[in-house]
Amino acid sequence: MKDCIFCKIIAGEIPCKKVYEDEFCLAFHDINPRSPIHILVVPKIHLEAAHHIGDYPDKNTANHLFSAVGNIVKEQNLIEKGYRLVINNGKGAGQEVFHLHIHIMSGFGGK
Ligand code: 5GP
Ligand code: ZN
Repeated sequence: MKDCIFCKIIAGEIPCKKVYEDEFCLAFHDINPRSPIHILVVPKIHLEAAHHIGDYPDKNTANHLFSAVGNIVKEQNLIEKGYRLVINNGKGAGQEVFHLHIHIMSGFGGK
């Protein structure tokens, strides 16, 4: 989608520190990390927020995204450390980029 920063990253028009890529999603380090490890998982299709997932013809979108999260946390050795998943939906919830993304946050140091 024109003027969407994450669509531009997916298209390779804006660089990112890539962590993972498959047919359905791209994951990269957040430019302004709020935890020691802060990764964004972004579907390659432009959906604004979580409540649009069910409207999309591919009924496996959520499965693709969470399967990618599983692959990433295994590859990045985050299972032992523990990790948080956050999806902000709407300005009032702190969403700044209106292309659905899952924040993977880890490395808080607690046990
Ligand atoms: P939101 O607040 O929409 O849930 O999260 C958007 C996230 O995208 C923020 O954590 C912000 O730091 C990150 N972000 C915004 N622009 C860029 C960018 O150009 N590159 C990367 N890697 N992250 C970005
Ligand atoms: Zn987009």
